[in-house]
Amino acid sequence: MKVPDKKDFLSMSFEELTEFITASGYQKFRAKQIYEWMYRGNDFSQMSNIPEKMRIDLDGMAVINLPKIRKKLVSDIDGTIKYLFLLNDGNFIESVVMKYNYGLSVCISSQCGCRMGCRFCASTIGGKVRDLLPSELIGQIIVASADIGERISHIVMMGIGEPLDNYDNVIKFLKLVNQPEGLGISYRNISLSTCGIVPKISELANLAFPITLSISLHASNDISRSEIMPINNTYSISELLYACNNYFKKTGRRISFEYTLISGKNDSKENAKELASVLKKHISGPIHVNLIPLNPVIERDFKTVDRHFAQKFADILKSLGVNATVRRTLGPDINASCGQLRRSEEINNK
Ligand code: SF4
Repeated sequence: MKVPDKKDFLSMSFEELTEFITASGYQKFRAKQIYEWMYRGNDFSQMSNIPEKMRIDLDGMAVINLPKIRKKLVSDIDGTIKYLFLLNDGNFIESVVMKYNYGLSVCISSQCGCRMGCRFCASTIGGKVRDLLPSELIGQIIVASADIGERISHIVMMGIGEPLDNYDNVIKFLKLVNQPEGLGISYRNISLSTCGIVPKISELANLAFPITLSISLHASNDISRSEIMPINNTYSISELLYACNNYFKKTGRRISFEYTLISGKNDSKENAKELASVLKKHISGPIHVNLIPLNPVIERDFKTVDRHFAQKFADILKSLGVNATVRRTLGPDINASCGQLRRSEEINNK
């Protein structure tokens, strides 16, 4: 990261920034001004109510580490916006803003690349490059919101990377987005998706933030899950679901399960029955399964299923008492699967 000796203001809480500003000899109210400017996507040069001398001094000792928009794709069909962001050190990440009747929701990346190796996923093809800083996590929301000119009210951590593999920065980020002086986004409007790093799910449960946990399950038994998700060789489905049930007990929040349907791999009637049975066996609270027809990745030869087929899979789950929906395809005209935009940009830049 290119900010070694400078303070990363966007990674600081309001209290931390206030402390730094007063310790640097400035009046306390300056911290509030700086906070407001940077949360609107501005750098020091744009802070017009701060004296020029102070702005120059701040620029010498701190950075406002916001990503830059490298590409922006807007769906003609439903207005979904996909951003390719350039980070300060030349790496790229993706974010997607979706429009719902309750407001704008952003899906953000948590790492540059990913080391989890899920076989159906483009984000992991080049491995993990590095973790994102709290400023780079929150920066995706600030820049997208400033670009669109509207408040973003919901966050989904389901973009590039495994959030629980960047645990400390993600926890700091969750506290930052919730601050009233910053974005003031309610924990209840945040959903965190994980492939299932069990000890980190337990740590998160102990914090008892009322965020929604979303588990990338994608298989109904250990043999087929281990084939497509290497994490399953470390934590089995039953260990994972045990941790999920504890999460539910500690937070009272419903757990949702993501299940990507891959033709001939995990999409049979028997898979549906097995899935219903394993979820009901381990989870005592409400369960919701999101079924996602695979978005094929060029580098892999997995095939998808059609929506009609996915609906039948959902009907079997529902007939067995498990709530299930087939996820709506947002922005079908810009619907390169997660990680592919970043990957093509990196290949073009080589
Ligand atoms: S699905 Fe998520 S955890 Fe798995 S490789 Fe892709 S980004 Fe990583």
